[in-house]
Amino acid sequence: MRATALFMPTVKDDPAEAEATSHKLMVRGGFVRQFASGIYIFLPLGWRVMTRVCRIIREEMDAIGAVELSMPTLHPAEVWQASGRYSAIGQEMFRLEDRGGREMVLAMTHEEIFAWLAARELRSYRDLPQIWYQLQLKFRDEPRPKGGVLRVREFVMKDSYSFDLDEAGLDASYQKHIGAYDRICARCGIEYYRVESDSGFMGGAQAHEYIAPSTAGEDRIAVCGGCGYAANVELARSVASEPDGATTHAQTKGEGTPREVSTPEQRTIEQVAAYLGVPASGIIKALVFVGGEEPVMALIRGDHTLHESKLTRYLKYEARAATPEEVKNAVGVEIGFVGPVGLPVGSKVRLVADETLRPAAGIALEYVAGANKGHIHLAGVVVGRDIRPEYADLREAQDGEGCPVCGRPLVIKQGIEVGNIFKLGTKYSVPLNATVLDESGAERPVMMGSYGIGPARLAAAAVEQRADERGIVWPKAIAPFDVHLVQVQAKDGTQTAVALALYERLCADGWEVLWDDRDERPGSKFADAELIGCPVRVTVGKKAGEGLVEVEPRHGGERDEVSLADCPEDVRRLWEAAD
Ligand code: ATP
Ligand code: MG
Repeated sequence: MRATALFMPTVKDDPAEAEATSHKLMVRGGFVRQFASGIYIFLPLGWRVMTRVCRIIREEMDAIGAVELSMPTLHPAEVWQASGRYSAIGQEMFRLEDRGGREMVLAMTHEEIFAWLAARELRSYRDLPQIWYQLQLKFRDEPRPKGGVLRVREFVMKDSYSFDLDEAGLDASYQKHIGAYDRICARCGIEYYRVESDSGFMGGAQAHEYIAPSTAGEDRIAVCGGCGYAANVELARSVASEPDGATTHAQTKGEGTPREVSTPEQRTIEQVAAYLGVPASGIIKALVFVGGEEPVMALIRGDHTLHESKLTRYLKYEARAATPEEVKNAVGVEIGFVGPVGLPVGSKVRLVADETLRPAAGIALEYVAGANKGHIHLAGVVVGRDIRPEYADLREAQDGEGCPVCGRPLVIKQGIEVGNIFKLGTKYSVPLNATVLDESGAERPVMMGSYGIGPARLAAAAVEQRADERGIVWPKAIAPFDVHLVQVQAKDGTQTAVALALYERLCADGWEVLWDDRDERPGSKFADAELIGCPVRVTVGKKAGEGLVEVEPRHGGERDEVSLADCPEDVRRLWEAAD
């Protein structure tokens, strides 16, 4: 395609308030434009990338026997009420009314709608298994749209849903999706991890996320370089280091009682540790949460961080940190002096301690904890003697802690969630009545799985992982064009003739070619080629008259001066060497 016939508005400056590299480069390169907060226009170059990503997704879905269909994005509220999600989901759901005052919803996802269809169309075990997919819009009123197309309020998702008779069937459909998603990520040229992820507090079911490591991502994962264990920190387990040995953190025979120590104005773990000369690991951090019937005091070692998803999963309801006022009501003291020992008489506070605080047989460690009195802490607190909490895995895995499988050090990485696969079981088939008759003629709810992947996130993740200081370096499978043919002087007749001949030859070879025939300064044409990031560049310049052109790969490396005759072969060689 000729650049003069393509709308490719590149710009020099980064968009205001852009932080993510992909946001800056996709706007500057003329791939996208922001229309409103979290709502984006895909310009021709951006749409070509999306089309290529979607083609890869379709090929891999078709290869596992999935079939494509298309679901509506405007739903009557009833179908969402049937699953309970109409009320369980809050402001993230776009809601509206039709002219008759009927409540409607814009699609956030499609589990309910696929289950609705399955309920009507699948009757017998002979109709199973099925995998149905679509590439369809989703609407989510995200609290903080950001990062360009990484987190938006309207986006295309490939979502698929599997329907099986039993657990074994679901497992097979799940494994097929693992294969498809692995290939999609690899073909799109991104580095990724498949990590265990939180399947929500209904528990039990298996789920994985596909995470592309990048500092632009909002997820954190724990990865073991030894055995391959990888999990989102929302549920990653880890082997904590032993608490630092220190005088006040003595091992006792468990005799005695806690004693009060004065800690004027010492509220944070760091302040108390410094003031009393104890290590942070010798202090119990007490955090109060509300949301259930009674307030919950979560206890973790001072050198650890609580992960709220872990607490939620354990409690089986969404708890939130108590406000200072709620803390005062629950335990009678301000945050900073809260602790599990000496709670006001009659207070109904549920104590849940992290597993690392569970006393080991024969050893009683003495901790410092808040005394529930202003400016006073307790020393010599022994878990199991002075308090008898419930125990759960509450703390976030930290860099360098031991892998729960092989013990080698874990690495914490930041990343972009590009995809997500999920064993739903009968969570939606039961409320929506998606049942089939099994071989014995008994009615059974269908076992479902749901699987999502975001084409725009895949593209943006590729930009994040591979860009250099000059611009985007597209993986060859998803670049907007294979070859960027730069004609240096648009008005030079010889260059035009050479460029045209090359253009026709390369197109005939099957390449998608962007021919920059614009009448622009050579400098800005070269800069645009770097910014746009097609894998191979061919430059038709001064030596066109001698039958010579230049060929070079975008990812760096040598620039070859070749004859017109050799050019197609050189393009193929560089294309094949590119990744
Ligand atoms: P996140 O945790 O990032 O909000 P999610 O868990 O809500 O993601 P899913 O509901 O599993 O995402 O959606 C499947 C895929 O859809 C995601 O892996 C991602 O590629 C894409 N996606 C989800 N939300 C957005 C969004 N707001 N903008 C762009 N893509 C999105
Ligand atoms: Mg989300």
